[in-house]
Amino acid sequence: MKCPNCQSFYCVKNGHNPEGKQKYLCKKCRASFDAFRDHFTYWSHLNYEQWNLLIQI
Ligand SMILES: [Zn+2]
Repeated sequence: MKCPNCQSFYCVKNGHNPEGKQKYLCKKCRASFDAFRDHFTYWSHLNYEQWNLLIQI
């Protein structure tokens, strides 16, 4: 599993999201991402309101 943020392969499984999909955590840049999407579902340093803002843009 390659990190979509820093392109490293230092990624470990990090539980599942509420939809039951596998989540991964990059041990290099500490980003969390969803393995089944080609973009981040969230960043560890963004909260829900910030994501809503991004989506609206
Ligand atoms: Zn990374």
